[in-house]
Amino acid sequence: MNITLFNTLTRKKEEFKPINPPYVGMYVCGPTVYGDPHLGHARPAITFDLLFRLLKHLDYKVRYVRNITDVGHLENDADEGEDKIAKKARLEQLEPMEVVQYYTYRYHDAMRVLNALPPSIEPRASGHIIEQIELIKKILTNGFAYESNGSVYFDVERYNKQYNYGKLSGRVLEDMLAATRELDGQEEKRNSVDFALWKKADSDHIMRWPSPWSDGFPGWHAECSAMSIKYLGEPFDIHGGGMDLLFPHHECEIAQSVAASGKEAVKYWVHNNMVTINGQKMGKSLGNFINLEELFTGSHKLLEQAYSPMTIRFFMLQAQYRSTLDFSNEALQAAEKGLDRLLAAEKTLSKIKPTENSSVDVSRLRDEALEALCDDLNSPIAIAVLFDWVRIINSLAEGKETITEGDLKTLEATYSTLVHDVLGLENNQTEGSEHAELTGKLIEMLLEMRVQAKTDKDYATSDKIRDELNKLGVKVMDRKDGFDWEV
Ligand code: ZN
Repeated sequence: MNITLFNTLTRKKEEFKPINPPYVGMYVCGPTVYGDPHLGHARPAITFDLLFRLLKHLDYKVRYVRNITDVGHLENDADEGEDKIAKKARLEQLEPMEVVQYYTYRYHDAMRVLNALPPSIEPRASGHIIEQIELIKKILTNGFAYESNGSVYFDVERYNKQYNYGKLSGRVLEDMLAATRELDGQEEKRNSVDFALWKKADSDHIMRWPSPWSDGFPGWHAECSAMSIKYLGEPFDIHGGGMDLLFPHHECEIAQSVAASGKEAVKYWVHNNMVTINGQKMGKSLGNFINLEELFTGSHKLLEQAYSPMTIRFFMLQAQYRSTLDFSNEALQAAEKGLDRLLAAEKTLSKIKPTENSSVDVSRLRDEALEALCDDLNSPIAIAVLFDWVRIINSLAEGKETITEGDLKTLEATYSTLVHDVLGLENNQTEGSEHAELTGKLIEMLLEMRVQAKTDKDYATSDKIRDELNKLGVKVMDRKDGFDWEV
């Protein structure tokens, strides 16, 4: 099945053709690790996890690289302000690498509970200083950068004479120049649009490395160019990230690669849209900044309850990645119910009794769901297809439709593959999904023993099992042909 992806660079949907099939190289900009993971981290992680899972499901061999930014990301995009990590370290009186380690663990924990698969390689910027210095040397040699007082800046105007700075974000250099303030002559940059490739460190700057120009540190954009090419080669297939990174970060990455090697490094640029909260942009100053821990525990004042990581994942998948996604309690509660229905159908499936003939066409499920996902990751349509099948599964359980044993096996396998392997949805509980699955099996086992006790007219045992389960919060419902239960 062919995949189409919306390429931000060409501004249209394109058929995805890997450079070297079946291998696919995918680079996604990861977090700058100086604070707790929040909703803004969850969306790209889930978007590109879905793409990663889909590609693997279609038998591509994917090398997925997602970096950790642990140096060089300054507070201000205009190369001003403190390094975000160094600032946190100063405020908390920690080593910068303690900050990095702590928030990297926090990020990994959040990704794990959101069931986002770990990337194949997770390089850190601070571990690739040599590669970044080499990249900067090439750009200097090719005449697209200049040294100034120990720092190195990218010469945007010079580059734009030969290439097109702004092609990804659709910006025009003249407009950018008109919108930026005049330099006062005291600055190191020749032009306000120039960006730092290497910054000379002040005497009190902790994170610093020797270079041909000064003891200093790389500019934020250098790491992704250097590390993506190192691990994926040049050119590589997919570069992903949030739309907020389109400019300046990704625009600068393109300029760096072209300036260093004369060619584009990336074939498909893919960007996920942003998360809003009750229709507003999320921001610390707006009081609507929700981190993932607060969502999972319900501890933010805007939240009426806790939402499980799977509810968050499902909620995000209910929107196509290029549309904005608005968080509200109502929408999350609806997502929670929807996910429960989707997962409950799997239990219903195991209770269906096969018959001689099938009145349903089970091949449609895989075809239609995958067709939607292959159409620029249209997960809401894929989920709608699954919900159609929830209805069909319920009809099968009620005997209104029929299915053969072979078709039932196919349906169970396809449903499970789509829900778990491709969409990455697991049991909708806050604790580890493996535990939840085991608990479910143990409850089923006890209830089977209870059925046997009832058959043996051993009502004391049968009641004891029911009552003890009740005490543990498991509601048991007797049915004509067995039982049902819920926590
Ligand atoms: Zn990046």
